[in-house]
Amino acid sequence: MPNPGNLYEKALTPLKKAAAVLNLEPDVVEVLSNPERVLIVSIPTRMDNGKIKVFTGYRVQHNTARGPAKGGIRYHPGVCLDEVKSLAFWMSNKNAIVGVPFGGGKGGITCNPKEMSAGELERLTRGYAAAISKFVGVDQDIPAPDVGTNAQIMGWFVDEYCKIAGKSIPGVITAKPLDIGGSRGRGTATGRGAFFATLEAVKTYKIPLKGARVSIQGFGNVAQPIAKYLFDLGCRIIAVSDSTGGAFNAKGMHPEKLTKFKKKTRSVRGFPGSKEIETIDPITVDCDILIPAALEGQITKENADEVTAKLIVEEANGPTTPEADKILHEKGAIVVPDVLANAGGVTVSYFEWVQNRMGYYWSDEEVDEKLKKVMAKAFKEVYQNAKQYQVDTTLRTKRAETDLRTASYLTAVQKIVAAMQALGRI
Ligand code: GLU
Repeated sequence: MPNPGNLYEKALTPLKKAAAVLNLEPDVVEVLSNPERVLIVSIPTRMDNGKIKVFTGYRVQHNTARGPAKGGIRYHPGVCLDEVKSLAFWMSNKNAIVGVPFGGGKGGITCNPKEMSAGELERLTRGYAAAISKFVGVDQDIPAPDVGTNAQIMGWFVDEYCKIAGKSIPGVITAKPLDIGGSRGRGTATGRGAFFATLEAVKTYKIPLKGARVSIQGFGNVAQPIAKYLFDLGCRIIAVSDSTGGAFNAKGMHPEKLTKFKKKTRSVRGFPGSKEIETIDPITVDCDILIPAALEGQITKENADEVTAKLIVEEANGPTTPEADKILHEKGAIVVPDVLANAGGVTVSYFEWVQNRMGYYWSDEEVDEKLKKVMAKAFKEVYQNAKQYQVDTTLRTKRAETDLRTASYLTAVQKIVAAMQALGRI
């Protein structure tokens, strides 16, 4: 299951570590540990068989000191309040790390989109948009896609919202189709951003890319682009998986052929020339770079010891449990944490929001150049903070606080606290 017990408690672990380094007052930590608003809605939805099914939807606004809440909407059978709270908390930190003027939010519906028709998904989305419409808005809370949602779902959402508002407000949601105000480059932004973060990491830690063996868990929308960019620089994609299983080939697999194969067969399993592996196997296959790009809680205390990668780039949100994080750290692995590695998606979402408000649109090149700058700056800032706060970025010592994750939270928490102070909230 995607949600191991006490997910939210576990999500707060790096905040507590950062708070200890920064000597934050316990009451401030308490404020940061609690979301500002939690919304739970029932969404009665007419199914294709004529019956009404009631789905449960969530929207959590974790912290809005730095700006309106911002974060995706997840459609998955494992969605629950604890998960959405964790995802919203991660968004507050992620948005602060890349310096976009947003707080953190997240939404979700407990459903299985893979088993629903397009019509059912549209009615569910419109019902959800109507149910949360008073709590979202271009200056209030701006959703986007996450696991199980896509540009089409954003299109239905914005349509329903604008009908209720009685006017066109495209910036209420991001990662829309291009024809209705989506930004160029948003489709590949998470992968592109993770690639830029990877480039900074390999430069900083002197890890050779040419010939590096890359293993990816979750070969979906966010992983397919980074696989291509790394392949183009001479990496070998030796293992990939999705919810149906996986494919392994020590010689490497062509990422674009893999993407085409998955599009056709809806699975990477059975990719020509590959050996079949399980969904979880890419985590522990012998490799140099590991990219967990599926769900939370995949690298655990049970399998962390078997991870061989020197560099782990977290494209998924929360793929590593705190216990596993400690094991990886002790092994000397370098983890580019989710709140930094996958922040390219929300960064281009911010660009989309800006373009929607200006009514003036940028080219692919402009978006890419701006994204690269943001990701490089964020990585450097995290690394600088690690040094300034004596976080040992060489990871040679085994002190619990000596990792890039703690350094990322140091970066984020300082910005969020500064905003709360400036507002007089603390
Ligand atoms: N769901 C994505 C994330 O976890 C994107 C959020 C956004 O673009 O607002 O970062």
